[in-house]
Amino acid sequence: MDKALERIKELDREIRTLNGIEALLGWDHHVYMPERGVHQRSEQTAYIASLSHQKVTNPEFGDLLDKLGASAENPLGSKSLSDDDRRLVRAVYRDFHQQTRVPGSLVEEFARVTSIAQSVWTEARKKSDFSLFRPHLEKIVDLNLQLADHLGYTAHPYDALVDQYEPEITTAQIATVFRQLREALVPLVRDIKAAKQVDTSFLRQPYPVELQEQFGRAVLDAIGFDSQRARLDRSVHPFTTTIGVDDVRITTRYLADLVTSSLFGIVHEAGHAFYELGFAEGFRGTRLADACSLGIHESMSRFWENVIGRGRAFWSHFYPQFKETFPDQLSGVDIEAFYKAINRVEPSLIRVEADEVTYSLHIILRFELERMLIGKELKVKDLPHAWHEQSRDLLGIVPDGDASGVLQDIHWSGGSIGYFPTYALGNVYGLQFTAKLREQIPDLDTKVRHGEFAPIKAWLDTNVHAHGRSRTPQELCQQITGNPMSAEPFVNYLKTKYRDIYDL
Ligand code: MG
Repeated sequence: MDKALERIKELDREIRTLNGIEALLGWDHHVYMPERGVHQRSEQTAYIASLSHQKVTNPEFGDLLDKLGASAENPLGSKSLSDDDRRLVRAVYRDFHQQTRVPGSLVEEFARVTSIAQSVWTEARKKSDFSLFRPHLEKIVDLNLQLADHLGYTAHPYDALVDQYEPEITTAQIATVFRQLREALVPLVRDIKAAKQVDTSFLRQPYPVELQEQFGRAVLDAIGFDSQRARLDRSVHPFTTTIGVDDVRITTRYLADLVTSSLFGIVHEAGHAFYELGFAEGFRGTRLADACSLGIHESMSRFWENVIGRGRAFWSHFYPQFKETFPDQLSGVDIEAFYKAINRVEPSLIRVEADEVTYSLHIILRFELERMLIGKELKVKDLPHAWHEQSRDLLGIVPDGDASGVLQDIHWSGGSIGYFPTYALGNVYGLQFTAKLREQIPDLDTKVRHGEFAPIKAWLDTNVHAHGRSRTPQELCQQITGNPMSAEPFVNYLKTKYRDIYDL
């Protein structure tokens, strides 16, 4: 049994090495690569990806899992193994069976259809014309239905799709949490709309990019971003990627006329980086040194961006320095006006520009439509109409064309259905964890006001980051909070914060 386990760890080291190389190629693609490098880079990336797919689906894993006593009824394997080794066995079992259940012909068909669909989507969005993209999306929905059948599910085919990103969560569980969110957020947004709007004009003026970068780097330093193990660069779309256990890259973009974009973008990506850098030492080289789920990953980035970064305490520490950096832009703007401006709420059509309150409503809209498409209750041709209806119900506004509605996101063109819910689940988990963090560090705000971020990071390291993929999201949530997933802490947080800001 020991030998089988050692062999699994050996195979995992190869897989992790390939993952790191693939990530580095991707990072370079988006940060440094000259435009015309793209064709050969695609070949290089595809080559590494197929090598890594071969390694993950190596039939040897099947034999090793048998030797370790793992089965569908008992994916953790033999009880004589240590707890962490059993969790590694479970992760291997899950990956191996998930990957080998899907026929190679379907994987190839997915790649072929989505590579065309992505370029058509770009064109269709430019022309704001859904009819161009529609036949491609029909194929993508059909391929996802086939995928769900191969992956397997009990209640709803959408369960199988969402499970790829958020292990072991069901459509019904998501629907329950999203109903709680919807019932609380729709009236809150309505009340905010009726209240006096806050002024944000001083944020929308020229802020020199070099100074934005300088301030962003100072914030990273202060919150504990370790420049020996991580770095910040620029790219068109901000992202975080992991080259190795001691090498995590984050990126941002600087908009000269919107200072908040890079500022909160950096803090958001730092939250992702802290997670990637915080896995337990003992997991190094294995697949347990990875995120628990996309929802948990996003809970960390949103915690830093919103709970910490858009909080009063954070700015009572940083505002003097920020104002010193931008004296003209912020002349006459006190901290209270600044705090309100960075937390302005307003229903808007574009998800990626949404504020903290309306953001989850954008996600609920997509979840409802995806669930109906996959449940065959909605046809692709009726999608723009359904989008309008949902948008009116959830946000009180309707798109003025396909580009600001059904064509705005890249996800479907890439074949991803079931991904969106993880963004809102991140908010939900994040505030559940925050409630516990506040219980255990009662003077959290005082610490933040004094610029003491180390205790927060240490708490997250111990309670969230270290566990990596050894827990399922629901096990982690239960372990940290003593409760299953619940929207209540997030809803309470939003109500308290925004009733104060909008004087409701
Ligand atoms: Mg993120």
